[in-house]
Amino acid sequence: MQLSINNLSKTYSNGVEALKNVSLTIKTGMFGLLGPNGAGKSTLMRILATLQEPDTGIAVFNDINILKEKDKLRKTLGYLPQEFGVYPKINAETLLNHVAVLKGINKRGERKELVKALLNKTNLYEQRKKNLGGYSGGMKQRFGIAQALIANPKLIIVDEPTAGLDPAERNRFLNLLSELGDHAVVILSTHIVEDVKELCTDMAVINKGELLLQGNPLDAIESIQGRVWKKIIDKTTLSEYKTNFNVVSEKLIAGKPIIHILSDTNPGDGFESVTPDLEDVYFAQIFGSAELAIT
Ligand code: ADP
Repeated sequence: MQLSINNLSKTYSNGVEALKNVSLTIKTGMFGLLGPNGAGKSTLMRILATLQEPDTGIAVFNDINILKEKDKLRKTLGYLPQEFGVYPKINAETLLNHVAVLKGINKRGERKELVKALLNKTNLYEQRKKNLGGYSGGMKQRFGIAQALIANPKLIIVDEPTAGLDPAERNRFLNLLSELGDHAVVILSTHIVEDVKELCTDMAVINKGELLLQGNPLDAIESIQGRVWKKIIDKTTLSEYKTNFNVVSEKLIAGKPIIHILSDTNPGDGFESVTPDLEDVYFAQIFGSAELAIT
């Protein structure tokens, strides 16, 4: 299976260029689309989910032209939008059954089996009679996946699914997602580096509508091996360091800023070499201070 995106561009009527000539090839497995808020992720996800038109470009999933054969794509698409609204007064079992009817699963027995299997898969079977309005954020997201999986989709798009989940709910949700990548193209759009690091075999970084990098997360980390240095500094000197070095991240540990910088050679000045992680790759891309090429 393959999703090919070629030169997609989208400018909103207010002049915001949400996508600038984005090209990507995405194969079976978990793909992480990483970028800060406003990067253009949802715009891209909505275009791929046939909910929005780009200005220019092509998107093809296997033999389906997404922009021209919308109905055909929808039959094989599972989409979990960023804002997943649920009907608060309906229970999960009833709503899933209803969605299955809409998706054309007409045989009652078959539908019942499917709904049961999806409730089990998403760990919601015990709460199947509970109204969705009483679900926690994590349960709603898992319900979102259950409805997205009806009709066995081969292209699954989840937009910012872990934002707002507590760590236990997040883990449960990511475990659920990771199983899906075996038999489908799964695109996980997120601004959370950890989500991509833990799950994805391939990823892209996007910012201000531009694709900055595509590749395997481990290769991306390898590409900055030996070039990341850290130092604990005094708060008052932070701006000075930012002027003098390529600061890619800053974190507070016990109230003290610890900065990571990129440098091809030992910067001295008390900096220590660190093993880079995906966050360093990501911030290096976002802040434009590194020319990273994954080959
Ligand atoms: P992300 O999902 O990465 O946060 P979006 O695709 O939602 O990014 O947004 C990309 C840019 O396009 C942002 O600057 C956002 O404000 C703008 N944008 C998104 N939707 C619209 C819209 N309907 N009209 C105008 N601007 C929009």
